[in-house]
Amino acid sequence: MPGPARHRARPLAVTACLTVLAVVALVAGACAAYLTTPSHGPGQSGGSVALATPAPSGSGGQPSVGPTPFASFSTASAVPSSGPAGSPGASPTILPPIPPGAVPILYYHRAEAPPPDYPSWSKAKQAAFIDYDVLPVALAAQLDWLVANGYTTILPHDLVSHWNLGTPLPAKPVILTFDDGFHDWVTTILPMLQARGMVAEFYLTLTAIADGNITWSEVQTLASAGQGIGAHDVHHVQLAELGQGRPDASPATMWAEVNGARQTIFSHIGFYPDSMAYVGGGFSPELEAMVKQAGYTSARTIRRGIVQAADEPFELHVVRIGPYDDVTNLMAGTLRPGLPTFVARMHGVSDRPTGG
Ligand SMILES: [Zn+2]
Repeated sequence: MPGPARHRARPLAVTACLTVLAVVALVAGACAAYLTTPSHGPGQSGGSVALATPAPSGSGGQPSVGPTPFASFSTASAVPSSGPAGSPGASPTILPPIPPGAVPILYYHRAEAPPPDYPSWSKAKQAAFIDYDVLPVALAAQLDWLVANGYTTILPHDLVSHWNLGTPLPAKPVILTFDDGFHDWVTTILPMLQARGMVAEFYLTLTAIADGNITWSEVQTLASAGQGIGAHDVHHVQLAELGQGRPDASPATMWAEVNGARQTIFSHIGFYPDSMAYVGGGFSPELEAMVKQAGYTSARTIRRGIVQAADEPFELHVVRIGPYDDVTNLMAGTLRPGLPTFVARMHGVSDRPTGG
C-alpha cells in the first residue's frame, strides 16, 4: 500500500487504509502495518497459529487460534512432543521429514519486548506492535535451537554461489532474514548473532531511514560486522501482485524502487546489496527481470517453503516465524520447552493453513 505519494498526514493515511480495508483483507494487512512501521503486506500479519497446543494464555489478549495438528501430515518422523507443563498425555508430534537440500529462510522483522503498558492498549494498537515482532527471548531461544541442532547460517549470496559456482554449503544451512529496518537490528539482534557466530540478511527499506526507525550509521555497523544488507525498495511500495485486478506498478516505478534502493545503499555502505526482498511479497516476471537487470543475484518472496530452487533464485521461499510461536505468556516472555512450533517450522510446517 505505501508508495511515494502516500507520505502524507497520518489521518489521510488512516482514511486510505480504511477504504482499502473495506475492499480486500489481504491489502488490509499491508495498510495496518504501514500505520505503525514500514512493513509487509499480505499474509504477514495475523500472527502465527499455535500449533499442537492451545494458544498461549495471559499473553496480552490476542485471539486464540485453533490448533493445527501436525498429525495431518502423512509421511512423518515422530518427534517427541515438548508441550507445556500441565499437558500430560500429549501424543508425539508428527512432523513431515525435511527434504534433502532444504535451506530454510527464516523471516522476521523486529525483536522487541512489549512495553509494560501493552496489555492496556487497544487491540488494534497491540496488533500493530506485535504482528511484526518476535520476543527477544524467543529469538534467542530459536537461535540457540539452531546451534544445538547443527545449523549454520549462510547469506543469500552463499546459496547463489553454491548454485552458480558449486561452492559447498554447510551440512545444515539456514538463512535468517529481517525486513524493513529498526534500531533493534543493532541493539538487540546483532549481539545475539555475534554471540553465536551467526550472520543474517537485513533487507532495508529506505523508508525506515526516512522514518527514523534506523540510521545509516546503524546499517553501517551491521555491514561492518559482516552481516548481509539487502534491499527492500526505496519507499516500501508493493510493485506486483496487488490483487483485485489492480495493475502492477509501472516499469519506471519498478526500476526506481529496485535500482534506486540498490544505488542508495551502495552510496552509504560501500558495496551493492546482492539480494532483494519483494515488498508485500508481490512479484511478477517483469519485476524479476528488472531485479536481475539491476544487478541483484537473488530475491526473496514471502511464499512459504523450506526448499529453494536453483533455477528460481529470484523466488526464494520463507519460513515465517510468528510473534506467538511457542510463547506461553507474552508479557512474562515465557516459552514452551523445546520450541515445538519452531521445530515444526523448520520441518516446513507453514503458519498458513494452506501451506501457501
Ligand atoms: Zn517490508
